[in-house]
Amino acid sequence: MLSSELNADLHSHSIISDGVLAPAQLAARAKSNGVELWALTDHDEVRGIPEARAAAHDLGMRYIPGVEISVTWAGKTIHIVGLNIDETSQGLVDGLAKTRSGRESRARDMAAELASRSGILNAYEGALKYVGNPDLISRSHFARYLVEIGACATVSDVFKHYLAEGKPGYVPHRWATLSDAVGWIRNAGGTVVVAHPGRYDLTPLAFDAFFTEFKNLGGLAIETVTGSHTVDQYEEYTKVAAQYGFLSSRGSDFHSPQDAEIDIGHLPVLPSMAKPVWETWV
Ligand code: AMP
Ligand code: MN
Ligand code: MN
Ligand code: MN
Repeated sequence: MLSSELNADLHSHSIISDGVLAPAQLAARAKSNGVELWALTDHDEVRGIPEARAAAHDLGMRYIPGVEISVTWAGKTIHIVGLNIDETSQGLVDGLAKTRSGRESRARDMAAELASRSGILNAYEGALKYVGNPDLISRSHFARYLVEIGACATVSDVFKHYLAEGKPGYVPHRWATLSDAVGWIRNAGGTVVVAHPGRYDLTPLAFDAFFTEFKNLGGLAIETVTGSHTVDQYEEYTKVAAQYGFLSSRGSDFHSPQDAEIDIGHLPVLPSMAKPVWETWV
């Protein structure tokens, strides 16, 4: 079998960030969906890794320790995935703790905005019901609560109407810098990957500046086949990868059986011209 045909799913979330399944439950779902190489990549958090690794080991599924770091670049939020990291690296652990630290007050500000601008009361307490890790309250938890109270029918509608930039519950936030996030991952021995590039609202010129800076900092790969991309974008970003000399990663970005557009392990294989980021690991 070609390495590019491996069922690798290198982007997924557990209850340790904004997913709904425990790491071991997620491992079991990945295995039963045919995943052959799996990474849990919780937002700004590595504390789910020991459970994920042990569960993958018990299931006989190859496992890569990962993380997804929230970054602010040119005023925009960008997600950077670190794969094959040493999750005990002190610089990484400290950097992630710092990145998480603003979430609590941001969440309180979001609740205040939802109350004053949309009349939605007690959203902080409501979101907390969905939180598995008190250090990681995210917009996804608010979205689940807003669905619960009937403000919208789906999580994706909640983002559209309440939580996306410019909407009543959106609170601007400054995350890690690109160079810090890349540095933490590299110092932890990891491979640095741009998550779902098709989701960022950047002009072609800004994209070029971003990819160039990412490459100069030591970034190696971009996600081409992800649950956040359209089929056309699989090809588009495979061409981008070729242009900049990046490897390709593949991951569903699975969070929850209820909200998933693409289940864990259910993505198409990489386009044939893509160079898999896992080629040297398997
Ligand atoms: P936060 O880190 O608190 O800003 O939350 C970001 C998370 O919200 C992402 O990782 C996604 O899981 C989720 N998210 C962002 N935009 C959307 C969207 N349009 N539809 C569904 N989920 C989204
Ligand atoms: Mn998420
Ligand atoms: Mn992301
Ligand atoms: Mn993600």
